[in-house]
Amino acid sequence: MTTLQHCIDLDTQDPLRSLRTLFSIPSGTIYLDGNSLGVMPAATPSRVADTVARDWGTDLIQSWNKNGWFAMPQHVGNKIARLIGAGDNEVVATDSTSINLYKVLSAALNMAAVDSPQRKRIVSERINFPTDLYIAEALCKERGLELVLVEPEGMAAALTAEVAVLMLTHVNYRTGAMHDMAALTAAAHAAGALMVWDLAHSAGAVPVDLSGACADYAVGCGYKYLNGGPGAPAFVWVNPKHANRFWQPLAGWWGHAAPFTFTPDYQPAPGITRYQCGTQPIISLAALDCGLDVFAAAEALGGMAALRTKSLALTDLFIALVEERCAGHGLGLATPRAHAERGSQVCLTRDEGAYAIVQALIARGVVGDYRAGDGGNHKDILRFGFTPLYIGFEEVWQAVEHLKQVLESGEWQRPEFNRQHAVT
Ligand SMILES: *Cc1c(COP(=O)(O)O)cnc(C)c1O
Repeated sequence: MTTLQHCIDLDTQDPLRSLRTLFSIPSGTIYLDGNSLGVMPAATPSRVADTVARDWGTDLIQSWNKNGWFAMPQHVGNKIARLIGAGDNEVVATDSTSINLYKVLSAALNMAAVDSPQRKRIVSERINFPTDLYIAEALCKERGLELVLVEPEGMAAALTAEVAVLMLTHVNYRTGAMHDMAALTAAAHAAGALMVWDLAHSAGAVPVDLSGACADYAVGCGYKYLNGGPGAPAFVWVNPKHANRFWQPLAGWWGHAAPFTFTPDYQPAPGITRYQCGTQPIISLAALDCGLDVFAAAEALGGMAALRTKSLALTDLFIALVEERCAGHGLGLATPRAHAERGSQVCLTRDEGAYAIVQALIARGVVGDYRAGDGGNHKDILRFGFTPLYIGFEEVWQAVEHLKQVLESGEWQRPEFNRQHAVT
């Protein structure tokens, strides 16, 4: 049996423990939702205040040059690049994940239309995050293409000579299951398709090597594991071998080679800069920059490899404690046990009461979230994200202790925990 003392000892031995002090975490909260909205870095309020009061308030429009505003998407993008196996000047932080996906998917389809016009399909996974599927569906409508959705085991068979693009999310938002990026990218290429990855639940959570996998396009999220704040700019990466080939469809002036020449025709900027559209959200970029500074601090302590080791130890511990201490309460495990197939979250299933159990936990200060099932193969899910930058092993113990008490007492059945909110 795992003991509380063992968990406390793991915290004492944790080489990344000091990183927690770089965040502002409300006392009494065990925050297991960093996969949905990361916590606030301690440096963010003053950085945002400076951007507003000093840069905007005092230097005004001169800030575009004087305070580095104009280059912020590239500056922040370079910090993200280090976490995802991309090079300098290959990533920009801009727009939302949904919008960036529209841009890269369009560019990939433009490329396929020239190189292999007989290919009329996008393949994705049925349980991919909905916005990814909606964007793909819209593009298919616009271009007379077909979106084919498969289960993971059906992927190989779906990669036929009709497929233009394989579009996948690396770590699944519902189950925490992680794809083998290198193998699937190679399979897509072997079938003659381009590979688009969504790294929303990967960037800052698990090591990613886009260059090593020879992927074609990638997008990802700034407000989850990167701790950039609500609605933080997302990011976009294009393999440098494709970056200059095509325009992306939102050809705004910030993606122009020389925006301040104000010419009437569009000349795309070289490289990833053409993936910008319009004027960038500088205050939000400043907040995201603070989130990335924490990863720079983590670099000295072993970087993503050390974070991954800790993340797996946290999720292993959570699974073991749930199985030891909450047995007999109808909980199942939706997340793969194999390390190579697991992201940084653990999802539990329960036939009844998943939503209410999560609400009862939140009332006790243990913040996870709930994702509804689809009435078929995919059950209701209690979802717990473990951000190795700031979550400790004793917190895992305490979270499971609360879960045990909520289940044993039947507290989750109270009416106040069974009322649905707009955002789950
Ligand atoms: C969180 C998430 C998004 C979010 O997209 P937004 O445009 O930021 O709302 C998209 N895709 C995946 C896979 C996600 O996990």
